[in-house]
Amino acid sequence: MLIKIKCLQCNIEGSFSIADASYAGPYKCWKCGALHTISIAGNEVKSCEPLSQEDFDKQQEFDKLRDKFK
Ligand SMILES: [Zn+2]
Repeated sequence: MLIKIKCLQCNIEGSFSIADASYAGPYKCWKCGALHTISIAGNEVKSCEPLSQEDFDKQQEFDKLRDKFK
């Protein structure tokens, strides 16, 4: 499934492919590299918020930790 997402920073529309009808997590603009937190439900973008590099790193750390404790 291909979802269209508009970058909040440069307004460029990018496509994001998801395996399921829902997704929540980071999205990176292909043009300017701006990070967003997006949530998709029922193949529709429900929310799109700017994400700072710092928060993105934190999230990555969290994912790493979670993998460790699987
Ligand atoms: Zn952008």
